[in-house]
Amino acid sequence: MANATAKKVAFVGLGNMGGGMAPNLVKAGFEVRAFDLSAAALAQADAAGCVPAATAAAAVEGVDYVVSMLPDGAIVEHLYIDGEPALLDCMPATALVIDCSTVAAASSRRLAEAAAQRGIQAIDAPVSGGVAAAAAGTLAFMCGGTEAACTAAEPVLSAMGSNVLRAGDSGAGQVAKICNNMLLAVHMIGTAEALQLGVDNGLDPAVLSDIMLKSSGCNWSLEKYNPYPGVMPGAPASRDYQGGFMVKLMQKDLGLAQAAALASRSDTPMGTLARSLYGLHAHAGGEDNTELDFSSVQRLFSRP
Ligand code: NAD
Repeated sequence: MANATAKKVAFVGLGNMGGGMAPNLVKAGFEVRAFDLSAAALAQADAAGCVPAATAAAAVEGVDYVVSMLPDGAIVEHLYIDGEPALLDCMPATALVIDCSTVAAASSRRLAEAAAQRGIQAIDAPVSGGVAAAAAGTLAFMCGGTEAACTAAEPVLSAMGSNVLRAGDSGAGQVAKICNNMLLAVHMIGTAEALQLGVDNGLDPAVLSDIMLKSSGCNWSLEKYNPYPGVMPGAPASRDYQGGFMVKLMQKDLGLAQAAALASRSDTPMGTLARSLYGLHAHAGGEDNTELDFSSVQRLFSRP
């Protein structure tokens, strides 16, 4: 039964990430109205205690917060601004919009401006952490928006994550996200390349990993996500690169980073190369590697 005093959250986009995040809001005591185009995703949210809505417009009626976790910027802009009806026209002016999707900073700024024209506050809050962190409620949120709006979003975000960090004004969360993921791609590729060089020269990859962990080559990929099969039992590399963060999502983030670099005339040679290497890896050897974990880039360096 609905709790009359509970704050109401509309949650749109209940896929791999949103499907794990929305139940954490229910557990934290929010009344969650859920909507997704997929009936299966909606049924799963229903089973987790969310209240399914017939449309996105119905989900946002009378709510305190609107959270979205959608595939890309075109969908986000259409849903909130350009669609019929525009979701921004269906929610109360007191609602706070929190878009957690990874999209271009320009899309987030457009959303915040369109919201402001209606007196609504909106922030971008893309996440670091994958499907497991979404389900466990341990995501990191990188927020872009006014200080007041980011502070107002904290009760919702801290129910779904362990770190809520403000990067700056609108769009700044997206910029932080693409900078982080570009660096992640670069150190993952560098780690894979170094491990293969060691193996090709007679080293045991586990021994080499231990040495580099205690040396200046130490980095997050080596520490938490070793890409060489069999070195780290819990890592995707040790289960044939199944699960984890898919190559196609890394490609999306590297594409957003390159678009941002072009717009700001920044030189990102390592990011450019990382994008090309992930592009090659995506279909290397005529295989479709796009749904493997991104650490599978190790295979680009392995020899038959
Ligand atoms: P997903 O494709 O699994 O889920 C997206 C959901 O949105 C789907 O269920 C889809 O039916 C729904 N949807 C699409 N258009 C809709 C609309 N107009 N109205 C309502 N629902 C709609 O994607 P995901 O893996 O959950 O990723 C979501 C976002 O999170 C992306 O922006 C992605 O880049 C980002 N992200 C994903 C991961 C990850 O590991 N999967 C990690 C960090 C960030």
